[in-house]
Amino acid sequence: MTWPTLPPPARLLVISGPSGSGKSTVIQRACALEPRLVRCLSCTTRAPRGAERDGVDYWFLSQEEFDRRAAAGGFLEHAVVFGKASYGTPRAFVEQQLSAGNSVIKDVDVQGAAQIRASFPQAVQVFLIPPDADEVERRLRGRGTDADEVVARRLAEAEREVARWQHYDYLVVNAEVERAAADLLAVLRASALRIPPR
Ligand code: ADP
Ligand code: 5GP
Repeated sequence: MTWPTLPPPARLLVISGPSGSGKSTVIQRACALEPRLVRCLSCTTRAPRGAERDGVDYWFLSQEEFDRRAAAGGFLEHAVVFGKASYGTPRAFVEQQLSAGNSVIKDVDVQGAAQIRASFPQAVQVFLIPPDADEVERRLRGRGTDADEVVARRLAEAEREVARWQHYDYLVVNAEVERAAADLLAVLRASALRIPPR
């Protein structure tokens, strides 16, 4: 008899949700709880702002280098944001970490997640939301990083993003950071135990 076995447990977790839903906070907590879960940074062609550092906040690339990698299929998804800089999810980092047995978590917007569904269909896609619509605004204002017009734009974007929630595999409600981080890790664990489709 051939005994059942599962593929290796490392997974790419893609996480989307409106700005202010708590993606950065929950990712940071989940990675602190699970040493075999690493965050994937984005590559970008924009210049570092303030104290931002290469390899800590973003991987900063020249436009030429970005375009070269994009042409070679080096991004799981990429986009031009605000008509200016390019941003992308580096394929090599994800593949190296998965081969080393680490799971990878990356936050991307709903368009990026749709691209990853095509370029890397084995990724597990999670949508993160606050407990109710008003809480998005409270958190954006509470974070204190955005001017009023930026908050207004992010709220309009939030509505468009939330409309896509049913395209994801799992929904995590971030009412409480500790619980949401535990839920993310539960998704990872359940995904590792899933019998692959025949
Ligand atoms: P995102 O990365 O999705 O834009 P952040 O992680 O920056 O969101 O969170 C937005 C704000 O909400 C931050 O000020 C953060 O401290 C706060 N926050 C995140 N999760 C919770 C939570 N469960 N309860 C209360 N505040 C939260
Ligand atoms: P900022 O330049 O302010 O740090 O980020 C601007 C925007 O870039 C973010 O809100 C996000 O939508 C987008 N962005 C950041 N990383 C990525 C990425 O890896 N892929 C895509 N498609 N967009 C990204």
